[in-house]
Amino acid sequence: MTLHADDLVEAGLIDRGRLDEIRRVAQSFAVALTDHVAGLIDRDDPQDPIAAQFVPRAAELDSAPEERADPIGDDAWSPVAGIVHRHRDRVLFKPTLLCPVYCRFCFRREMVGQKGAVLRGAALDRAFAYIRENRDIWEVIVTGGDPFLLSPRRVREIVSALGAIPHVAVIRFHTRVPAVDPGRLSAALVAALATEKAVYVVVHANHPRELTPAMRQAVLRLLRAGIPVLSQSVLLRGVNDDPAVLEALFRGLVAMRVKPYYLHHADLARGTAHFRTSVETGQRLVRDLRAGASGLCQPTYVLDIPGGFGKVPIAASAIAQSAEGDGWVVEDGAGRRHAYLAPGVEIAREGAGGAVARAPSEPVA
Ligand code: SF4
Repeated sequence: MTLHADDLVEAGLIDRGRLDEIRRVAQSFAVALTDHVAGLIDRDDPQDPIAAQFVPRAAELDSAPEERADPIGDDAWSPVAGIVHRHRDRVLFKPTLLCPVYCRFCFRREMVGQKGAVLRGAALDRAFAYIRENRDIWEVIVTGGDPFLLSPRRVREIVSALGAIPHVAVIRFHTRVPAVDPGRLSAALVAALATEKAVYVVVHANHPRELTPAMRQAVLRLLRAGIPVLSQSVLLRGVNDDPAVLEALFRGLVAMRVKPYYLHHADLARGTAHFRTSVETGQRLVRDLRAGASGLCQPTYVLDIPGGFGKVPIAASAIAQSAEGDGWVVEDGAGRRHAYLAPGVEIAREGAGGAVARAPSEPVA
């Protein structure tokens, strides 16, 4: 069952006194959460990190000057409905703008959950025709909304239409379903993904408490069908801006055989300032993660440049040119600095600031 704004009091997720506030938020942004998510929320904890992601707050009605309706510039790069073509070799394909839950920080929050948000008939044909006619498109990222909200029959139609386009080599689905409604990822839905082409699934999860046994089973169904599973997470104040939480999240995903792919810096969506950390905080958290956890647990920390200029990695660089101009200074996970000399530099030296240079043949400590 899906819970909407007026159901939240009955479900014990908000006090009746907050209902007006929630209704006002719901006039601007879609509100829904699943029974599964409601069951993960600790009602005794006013700071519960699961509730923070899905239960609306009055703070969403405040807009910061830097925030935008379309923070990553989807509209500017949309040649036909349902397609975003920002990069030469890949497109986003959005067959639906509906989701099983509406995340309070969503970067597409002013598009998702609208009536008529499913691409059908001639509009769907035009989207497929665009992909067919543009031979540089090597990868189609099926996103939304949440494409796994569609029926297995519709997912099968999409996979078979894309699979039949010779230049499309990779079909990548982005979904929140395994974390928020794992039972929906049925055997029939997994079977609908079958094609000769490479299919990847990227699951969205932000807190270790989302990694339930039911999610593990959903992921296993994908893995047993030979589908590689990656994850994306959003760095969110009050949810996962804590080194121990991030480490538990990424260790938990890897232990489920899910490779953490992206950690997104929260986008400038309207009414989401209360979720955004500073970039410096994100860089510190990512440095701590690198120092403390296996390389498998390291997603790329990225920022989508506002306006639609693409994602860029924004973790602090561990390497800088040496002041002497004879190579590089590299910082290890514990913050110690080491020399990495340019080819041909042979004279050992004690460098400033603790950097120690060695001949290129020597191992760096
Ligand atoms: S599931 Fe994805 S698209 Fe839907 S509301 Fe959450 S972040 Fe936005």
